[in-house]
Amino acid sequence: ETAPAFLSVWDIHAYYGESYIVQGISFNVHEGEILALLGRNGAGKTTTLRAIARLASPQVHKGEIWLDHQPLHRMQSYEASIAGLGLVPEDRRIISGLTVEENLQLAQIAPPIGWSLDRLYELFPRLGERRKQEGTTLSGGEQQMLAIARALARDIKVLLLDEPYEGLAPVIVDEIEKTLRIIKEQGITTILVEQNAVRALQLADRAVILDTGSIVYDGSAAEVLENESLRAEYLAI
Ligand code: ATP
Repeated sequence: ETAPAFLSVWDIHAYYGESYIVQGISFNVHEGEILALLGRNGAGKTTTLRAIARLASPQVHKGEIWLDHQPLHRMQSYEASIAGLGLVPEDRRIISGLTVEENLQLAQIAPPIGWSLDRLYELFPRLGERRKQEGTTLSGGEQQMLAIARALARDIKVLLLDEPYEGLAPVIVDEIEKTLRIIKEQGITTILVEQNAVRALQLADRAVILDTGSIVYDGSAAEVLENESLRAEYLAI
């Protein structure tokens, strides 16, 4: 008998109204690993992250999600957040009118509080240099760093990243990738949704590939990089 997985998604079916999007997916994420969740546009990656984070939309009609023995599927999004989930959405949601530091402090208003400001600025020196600057005036890469830092400012166990590399120059992607490795070393588990599949696979331990709301691959990330037909069929790379 094996120990239950750290994060377990079991037979999730998710809908937007009548549209049946995620069609019964199951996968496990081990503690401290980086899982790349990949697939073509519209495959259901964002919908899966939103279902795990327990956002009101999509509607999850069936299935279970367990995080470290806690039943996320019975929780609302704020409860899932307290249970240790940190979602960094694709649009980053930096709050306008607030400085970098105020954006981070806002995340620390309610316990359980995660990384200290000092620790966050050590991870992202650029944010420390710009702590008094309004968050929405940062560059795209810096805003992505702020969005990740804000998730860590709460005491999270799992980081859910939706296309963190989108629109960023390769050198900035390098920088963010380096911080994701450090975050992993700190024991945090990550699910990474990325269109830039090659970069995601180079960083990830394992990969799950979705195609029209179903899982078509669950295994090592390195194996996907080596498997040309898998890449061509489901990732177009
Ligand atoms: P992308 O890389 O394009 O974001 P994805 O794999 O993340 O792709 P999803 O965003 O999960 O895909 O979308 C899956 C399907 O659900 C798509 O067909 C999309 O049009 C549909 N969809 C997404 N959001 C909604 C919504 N709010 N209402 C209705 N349908 C939606």
